[in-house]
Amino acid sequence: MKQKKSRRLFESAVKIIPGGVNSPVRACRAVGADPVFIDHADGCMLFDADGNSYIDYVGSWGPMILGHRHPRVIEALAEILERGTSFGAPTELEINLAEMIVDAVESVEMVRMVNSGTEATMSAIRLARGVTGRDLVIKFDGCYHGHADTLLVEAGSGVATFGIPGSPGVPKSVVEHTLSLPYNDIEAVRDIMTRQGDRIACIIVEPVAGNMGLVAPAPGFLEMLRELTHASGSLLIFDEVMTGFRVAYGGAQALYNIRPDISCFAKIIGGGLPVGAYGGRRDIMEHVSPRGAVYQAGTLSGNPLAMAAGIATLEQLKAHGFYENMNKKAEQLAGGLKKAAESAGIKARVDHVGSMLGFFFTDREVTNFEDAKTSDLELFAAYYKGMLNKGIYLAPSQFESLFVSAAHGIEQIEATIKAAGEVLDELRE
Ligand SMILES: *Cc1c(COP(=O)(O)O)cnc(C)c1O
Repeated sequence: MKQKKSRRLFESAVKIIPGGVNSPVRACRAVGADPVFIDHADGCMLFDADGNSYIDYVGSWGPMILGHRHPRVIEALAEILERGTSFGAPTELEINLAEMIVDAVESVEMVRMVNSGTEATMSAIRLARGVTGRDLVIKFDGCYHGHADTLLVEAGSGVATFGIPGSPGVPKSVVEHTLSLPYNDIEAVRDIMTRQGDRIACIIVEPVAGNMGLVAPAPGFLEMLRELTHASGSLLIFDEVMTGFRVAYGGAQALYNIRPDISCFAKIIGGGLPVGAYGGRRDIMEHVSPRGAVYQAGTLSGNPLAMAAGIATLEQLKAHGFYENMNKKAEQLAGGLKKAAESAGIKARVDHVGSMLGFFFTDREVTNFEDAKTSDLELFAAYYKGMLNKGIYLAPSQFESLFVSAAHGIEQIEATIKAAGEVLDELRE
């Protein structure tokens, strides 16, 4: 694998961009590698600056559910380019995408567009606090909700701990209103809600956790969050930034049949352009400015290019059998990877929810962040490098999910399983 040009670009980048990247994981530090620089992409393939090609399982961290450069998305973007790139005034496109989200997601009656997942969750928290008049927020260890101060809380272990800032620059006074509990721990939530439920503004959760590797919700976990928040007058926020339109057209809430009060979206609804959205019940969303008093704004919010790419993407997802076909390929990949690990004699846990896939190098069943952290990170780093060398582009961290897109064909899935078999066999030796 040639890496000359990527190396040179990275050397230039580190001089003027912190760590050489505009988002930390991209630097590949966790696997002790340097990033490859991408030149272009097509379908399920990425092509780097040195001319190497890869089967892409990152999909820009989730948005590229149709694969790269889907003709309908490109067409929609080209049309908008003829009319302008930003107006800072309302357009019909915003209504169209909002309607598609409202039609798709049962709990959402009104929706506000923003520019990223971070903005969506940050705004949803402000809204929940504004509506309830309460300050406390519950999140879960290992769930990532973007980098807003309130939600950047170090994953505490065991019992409920009041937040410790997860980064320098986050005041203690900001996160002391954030409680982090173990994912899937029904008793821990029940305990805190019994004692302090009337002080809790909201519980925010990834309904399928995808940012500690893939961790599915335990049976009854989401139901219990719904019950307890309802009973205490707190709001339930589903952060569907990753799962929305991914695990089902109606999101994880359709898959598990739960109605949260507020939902956050981003990634897929922008079709590869910067976007985010939060929405929910009408009586809650009517608190948002200028209809209500909870302030939130954005110069580029509802950007026509992002709206057009999102609309074109969602239209494709409505095709009959879209999810069944894509999920079948993910199932095949999960099964193949599991077998490959078994025959190499390597301890691994493989799971998938729809087209989101998790592969942990541990023999422990993974139900929360503590379990995920028992993974052999050195082994993962070696696996990552081995796979990259064989033209398979994985997320450069054990604590990320893989995404299968509609553009992945059976041939690519089989090639990936074969590569994994070879890499894992070598690692055993
Ligand atoms: C990606 C992600 C975010 C953050 O979205 P950005 O667009 O990167 O700000 C928030 N929540 C979840 C669940 C995510 O996967």
